Amino acid sequence: MPQLQGQIAIVTGGNSGIGEATAKLLAREGATVVLCGRRAAENERVAAGIRAAGGKATAVQADVSTPESCRAVVDATVAAYGRIDALVNNAGIADKHKPIDECDEAWYDEVVKIDQYSVYYMTKYALEVMVPTGQGSIVNVSSIGAGGVAGVSYSAAKAAVNAMTKNIAIRYAPTGIRCNAVAPGPTPTPLNAPEAAQYFHQEFAAECGKHIDITLPTASAEDQAQAILWFAGPHSRSVTGQVLYVDHGTSLYG
Ligand code: NAD
Repeated sequence: MPQLQGQIAIVTGGNSGIGEATAKLLAREGATVVLCGRRAAENERVAAGIRAAGGKATAVQADVSTPESCRAVVDATVAAYGRIDALVNNAGIADKHKPIDECDEAWYDEVVKIDQYSVYYMTKYALEVMVPTGQGSIVNVSSIGAGGVAGVSYSAAKAAVNAMTKNIAIRYAPTGIRCNAVAPGPTPTPLNAPEAAQYFHQEFAAECGKHIDITLPTASAEDQAQAILWFAGPHSRSVTGQVLYVDHGTSLYG
């Protein structure tokens, strides 16, 4: 029996990389997936691919850095399907490894709004729908960067995501609602493809690299999706408030 048969799952940033792999896997496991992202055509490409493979998916264009957009994603899901069983807060951007002295306020704000505030907004609104049903699984996509080994804004945002994960888990532990996080290590996706990485602060990235083991293998987007599925699904029913590092041990050397 598929793990998420009949469930309704939202995946933010579901049109690329880890989010795309997650949307496809959750759909293969029986979920009806609502995927959102800023690029409508890319959203539709993934949703159409899921449907063509026999799954169920709809796409909602949204910029999850704004509360209005997050509200709209939740409202659209409830209007279409009546409930939310799983929320995957995956959308995120890299911060180009900018150290504090080279990170201006505008950039700090942008990264934190997308990587941190989106988790707050989406979770807050989804909980309004989950609480009356007494069940639901929230899975946040954090990063090994939460340990301080990325740019200042990304590190701060992902550390906040880890703290929020535990905080939300504490709040809802007495109910059937769980909140966990997957913290990927280096995972080849458009986020860190050579076209993007050329704009990273090379010197600070190298400094950060001394505090992790970057010689270890990289994980795949599918590896991350499998961990997300586990947290979203019934096999982790006793687990909440946890951050699972999917990184081949890269962060063990911090
Ligand atoms: P990606 O660039 O392939 O995908 C990011 C997704 O987020 C895209 O769908 C994009 O459209 C979406 N997104 C970005 N800003 C958005 C916004 N304002 N509103 C809505 N959607 C938005 O990158 P990825 O590697 O798949 O990243 C997914 C998550 O994994 C991110 O949270 C990232 O921080 C985390 N992560 C990735 C790695 C890695 O090595 N790839 C490592 C650690 C953590």
